This record gives sequence, C-alpha cells and structure tokens, in this order.
Amino acid sequence: MTKKKWLTMGVSVLALSALLLSACGTKDGGGSASEGGKSAASASVLDEIKSRGKLVVGVKYDTKLFGLKDPASGKVEGFDVDIAKALAKQIVGDENKVELKEVTSKTRIPMLDNKEIDMIIATMTINDERKKQVDFSDVYFKAGQSLLVKKGSPIKSIADVKKGTKVLAVKGSTSVDNIKQKSPDATVLEFDNYQDAFSALKAGQGDTLTTDNAILYGMAAQDSNYEVVGDPFTDEPYGIAIKKGEASLLTAVNDGLKSLQTSGDYNKIYEKWIGKVPSK
Ligand code: GLU
Repeated sequence: MTKKKWLTMGVSVLALSALLLSACGTKDGGGSASEGGKSAASASVLDEIKSRGKLVVGVKYDTKLFGLKDPASGKVEGFDVDIAKALAKQIVGDENKVELKEVTSKTRIPMLDNKEIDMIIATMTINDERKKQVDFSDVYFKAGQSLLVKKGSPIKSIADVKKGTKVLAVKGSTSVDNIKQKSPDATVLEFDNYQDAFSALKAGQGDTLTTDNAILYGMAAQDSNYEVVGDPFTDEPYGIAIKKGEASLLTAVNDGLKSLQTSGDYNKIYEKWIGKVPSK
C-alpha cells in the first residue's frame, strides 16, 4: 500500500512535467500578478535580487525530505532546498548565491510580507485563501494529506479518526483546517513545527499526526516504529509563493521551473529526495 503511494507520486512527476511545460503561468499555479502592476519608481523584487546578487528563500528547517537542519553540521537539506539552489542558478547565475531562512507554516507568509525573504519554498499548498495574500508559481510538487500512526494503531484510515481521537497537527497548515472539516468530532492539538508534533506523537500525546503524505514519509523514515496509513484524503499541490504583483519575478520563477523540467534536473532532485525513500 505504502509502496503504491510512492509509485503514484512518481507517476505524478511525469504528469507534473507536462503540467509545468504546458502551464502559461496563470492556470494551475494561480499566479495572477498583473504586468505593469508596479509603479515605475519602486524597484521590483527581481531587480533587488539581481542587484544584491543572491536569492533569499524561506524554507522549512523541521521537515525531513524537504527542508531539515542537521544540528551537527548546521546544514539545511532537502527537496525544497535543492529547488531553491536550482532557482538561484537560474536567476542569479550561481546555485550558491542563496541565503536560506527558517520559516514555519505559521511564519512563512508574514516573513514574505515583511520582505525578510524573496520567496517561500516550503511545502506550501496553493489554495484560494492564500492566493489572496501571495502569488504562486506553477505547481512543482503534488502531495496529499494523510495520517502517521505508531505501528499497530487501530487507526487505519481517516474513517477511524472520530470523537475521542487526538490528532496532532501544525499551526498555520492546511492540515489543521482539512482534518477539522473531515473529522469534526476529533480533538486537534496544534504545534509550532513538525518536529515538535512528531515528538508529541512519540510521547503518546496523540493518536495520530496528520499532514501531507510526503512529510509523513520523512518522519516514518526517521523512526521505523511509525507508519503512514490510509489513502491521501486531500490534494496538496505545492507552489512557490512570492509577494503579490511581482510579475517579473513570477515569470523568472516559472521559467526556472520549466527549464529544470526540460534539463532533467527536476527529476534528479525528485529522485534524490523522494524516489529513494523506503516505503516501509
Ligand atoms: N502543504 C500543507 C500546507 O501548506 C501542509 C504542510 C505545511 O504545513 O507546510 O499547509
């Protein structure tokens, strides 16, 4: 079952290639920045990036496979981090010209608003509510919400999450709203980040942890006593978020994503982080 889900994700990469190649920047990604939206006097974010000579990207530090900080080396690594480096190469000509800053699900939009970061590449689902606050690139990864449990748990799927079930989730994520909608009688406990939520699950503070399957597989890979159960019960298409109205940056990001597809670099990054994760 778990294996099959990874295969499904693999297949979706092929679908994604077609999607990125055919996207015109305003369809699935929802990028709706209007050309000419900026006044001539204020420099665009793309101009600022180019004159500064580096990209400042908000990534997760708590999410294995996507953005995880190794406390020993201080290095932050993952799929999103590699996408950030690849875009730095496209936009400023050098994959090392990228400064990573930690975001959580809750802090990422405020940090973008405050201009602390140029963009968010942090397991962020594109949805209509968020589109009111930010512009999104085309979809660069497809996930779906699922459940992580201790092996042997009576919870086998979303149908088993009901009154009395304690569900752990992270503040500011779509996962919280989705689980409240799917299982309105369950008790949802919210944490600041994914490592805290996972520690709480291990400490027995909840029956299941819910978020995107791809993130949960990263946790299961950290501790083999835990497994992902049931089929995904939502669609979580990831997009890169930028400030609204930055048409030139949106075009640069989408062009960058498209050329990662055509060069095969996207598939290499996918294989490196996602393709080789053991399914059990
Ligand atoms: N993709 C979901 C979201 O954007 C869950 C992962 C996260 O918290 O970043 O909210």
